[in-house]
Amino acid sequence: MSDVSELTFLKSFKGMDQLVHNGFIFQYERENNGKRIWSCILNHKVDCRGRVHTVGATVKEIKEHNHEPDKDEIIVRRCFNEIIEQANNEPEDPKILYVYKKLPDGFRRGVGRID
Ligand SMILES: [Zn+2]
Repeated sequence: MSDVSELTFLKSFKGMDQLVHNGFIFQYERENNGKRIWSCILNHKVDCRGRVHTVGATVKEIKEHNHEPDKDEIIVRRCFNEIIEQANNEPEDPKILYVYKKLPDGFRRGVGRID
């Protein structure tokens, strides 16, 4: 059940760190005795109780998901993150801006720029 690895994160639409683990995405919930508790981002959408906690770079699964992992969702979100990073690094590049301007407003606001 436990697994030691480098932690991988994405930025959420609100600019919060999200933990990526075994094909699932988790949002930070709270800290408890030095453990950081993360809950599945689908907990409201499909009533998933999936949870992990982290201590340093160690991830421990404490509750299982009621759905399959979604690797495509992670790829899409990582692309969004990269587009925003590129837009911040190359603010005048018309190709990047073209794609960037198609992202949802909430996502741009959370991860970086509003324009
Ligand atoms: Zn889940």
